Amino acid sequence: MEDIKMSAMKAQYAKLKPELDAAFTAVMESGAFGGGPQVGSFAKALTQYVSVQHAIPCATGADAYRLAFAALDLPNGAEIVMPAFMDNTAVDAALDCGLIPVFADVLPDAYTLDPASVKEVLTRNSRALMPVHVFGQCAPMEELTALATQHHLQLIEDASHALGTVYTDSDQKNAKAGSMGHVSITSFFPSKPLAGSGEGAAVLTNDPVLARKMKDLLETTLPVGMDALQAAMLEVKLKHLEEFNEGRQVIAKYYNSAFAATDLVKAPERAAYSSHIYQQYAITVAPEIRDGLQAYLREQHIPSEVYYPQPLHLQQRDKASRFVPNRLPVAAHLAKSILSLPMHALLSEEKLAYICQHVIDYVQQKAS
Ligand SMILES: *Cc1c(COP(=O)(O)O)cnc(C)c1O
Repeated sequence: MEDIKMSAMKAQYAKLKPELDAAFTAVMESGAFGGGPQVGSFAKALTQYVSVQHAIPCATGADAYRLAFAALDLPNGAEIVMPAFMDNTAVDAALDCGLIPVFADVLPDAYTLDPASVKEVLTRNSRALMPVHVFGQCAPMEELTALATQHHLQLIEDASHALGTVYTDSDQKNAKAGSMGHVSITSFFPSKPLAGSGEGAAVLTNDPVLARKMKDLLETTLPVGMDALQAAMLEVKLKHLEEFNEGRQVIAKYYNSAFAATDLVKAPERAAYSSHIYQQYAITVAPEIRDGLQAYLREQHIPSEVYYPQPLHLQQRDKASRFVPNRLPVAAHLAKSILSLPMHALLSEEKLAYICQHVIDYVQQKAS
C-alpha cells in the first residue's frame, strides 16, 4: 500500500495540469502583471458559483477581514462575537482593526457557532456576529441571522471551509455558503476547499454600496491584491470544485458507516439544515485517549491532525481584561477530544479499511 496522505494537493495538480498549464501560459503571454483581467474573470466566476452579486479577490485572509470590518464601519471598541473553536486569523485581524473579539461556544455535534451561547455573550457593545462554517458544514444561519437582525449586528460569514456547502432554511430555500452575510469572507489558502498555491482570499456581498467601499479600500489601503497567476489557478480549480467536494463526501460515507459500529468513536454529525463538504473529517474520542490514538496511528503510518488544540478563549487569557470572560465548555472539550483523519477523494477502500480498523482497534483496546 502506498503512503496515506492527509490531503491530495499533488494528485489534484496532476489531474488539472493541462488546464492549469494553459491558464498559466495565457497569463504569461498576456503580459499582465499584478492583477490583470484574470482577477476580474475569477471574481465573476466566483459570484456565479456562490450566487452572490459581488466578489472582490484580495491577497490574504487577514486582508479579507480588514476589508469587511472597515467597509462595515465597525467603530473602535465594538465587540464582534465569533466561535471559540477555530484558528486565530480573525482574532488578530479584529484586534488590528480596534475591535474586541468576544468568543461564544459551539454546538457539540456540528462544531459550529451555538446561537444560545451567542445570546449569553451579547452586550450593548456588540456590533457584529461572525458565524464560521467550520470543517465544511454551515452554522445554523437562520437562528444566527435572526439574532443579528434583532440586535442590529452586522453578519460576517466566514465560508473559508465551506465553498460549495448548501444551507437549507425552514422554508426549504437553499443558499450557498458565502451568500448569507452582509459581507462574507473566504480564504483560498492551500488547506481550504478551493486551494490556491499560497495566500489568497475574497470578500463577497450582495450590497452594492459595501462592494464599492471594499473595492475602494482594496485600492487605497492595501499594498497588493490577488495576483494574476493565483486568480488563473483558482478559476480553473473552481470549475472542478463540485467534483472534489463530492469526492470527499463519498469518503465520509465510508468513514461514517465504519464508525457507526462503535460508540467509542463519534463521527462528525451533519445538521439537517446543511450539506457537508468535509473539508476536515473530524472524529471525537474520549479525551484521555485522543493523544494516544494519534501516536498509535502515526506508528501505523496514518497521519492525523488536531484542529484546534486550544480554543480561542483560552489562548487569549493574557488579554482577559479585553474579553468577556466565560467558560465555553463545548469548545474546551472538543479541543481535547477531536482528531481529523485523512480526507481526500483518492483514499482507496484498502486505505480506508486500514485507517478505520486501526482507529477502532485502538479505542476498543483502551476501553477493555
Ligand atoms: C484559513 C481560515 C481563514 C483565513 O486564513 P488565511 O490562512 O489567512 O487565508 C479564516 N477563517 C478560517 C475559519 C480559516 O480556516
